[in-house]
Amino acid sequence: MKQLLVLSGKGGTGKTTVASAFIELSRAPAFADCDVDAPNLHFVTRVDGPIQVTPSLGMPRAIIDQDLCIDCDLCLQSCRFDAITSEDGYRIDRFACEGCALCTVLCPVEAITMVPYVAGQLKLQQDAYQTLSTATLTMGNSNSGKVVTEVKQQLTATTRADFAVIDGSPGIGCPVLASMSGVDLVLVVTEPSLSGLSDLERLLQTAGVFDVLAVVCLNKADTNPDKAELIVHRCRELGAAFIGSIPFDPAVVEVTNRGQTLATADSPAGRAIREVFRTTFNLLTGTSRPA
Ligand code: SF4
Ligand code: SF4
Repeated sequence: MKQLLVLSGKGGTGKTTVASAFIELSRAPAFADCDVDAPNLHFVTRVDGPIQVTPSLGMPRAIIDQDLCIDCDLCLQSCRFDAITSEDGYRIDRFACEGCALCTVLCPVEAITMVPYVAGQLKLQQDAYQTLSTATLTMGNSNSGKVVTEVKQQLTATTRADFAVIDGSPGIGCPVLASMSGVDLVLVVTEPSLSGLSDLERLLQTAGVFDVLAVVCLNKADTNPDKAELIVHRCRELGAAFIGSIPFDPAVVEVTNRGQTLATADSPAGRAIREVFRTTFNLLTGTSRPA
């Protein structure tokens, strides 16, 4: 399965706007929403089948057996995530625990064990033409690379589609690494700001580590021409292909609020996205190389 991953660094940059338009333009038979903190791809992509829900296991969590604990304080002193408290006997905050298991190794009386932990629900929706894989997290959990990996594995395990669009996780951390693993092409959607530039540099660096071809497009490009020029210049310096600019366009909000994508929008952003789409898919299918 050829996989196109759309990333942006921070949220609100237009990643899902671009990804959803690409899904419609390419008639993608498979797609995944790895933004599991706030999945919203399903609002604008229409898969008709019922939603299958299965538990998504996050990292296991530590629990303390109060009957065995001898109050030595070693676990509390050692936990780097401040997940252990001692006010009412030694206890572990399951939302703060990162599942590193250090405390289980250190406890002198083996009072701590790791137990499976349900971090959220994997969701799969299929009809005769398309498959959507995503997840939602249970209250208090944040996105993790493990959940993102499960979303992608669910997609590849449930369809024979030869091509997929993946709406990646926001940010630059572990879920992004999981999003990037195994993809064929990364499209970074950025914006003309210093934070956009900073995220872009980190994402390009990460793509380099994964040895994945990454190309860049600039959303709301006309809102800050100086920074837009800076980003194009920086792409050149970093050897990343800059493949297009999308202007700020009030029609984006109107179209999205109607539950539609920009794929066929007769507006400046719609036309620009179609240009970026053509270039991206030529690259993905190997019919051209970036300049
Ligand atoms: S498993 Fe790791 S993060 Fe969780 S309580 Fe133990 S030391 Fe802290
Ligand atoms: S390390 Fe073990 S014995 Fe010591 S406080 Fe923690 S749970 Fe109790």
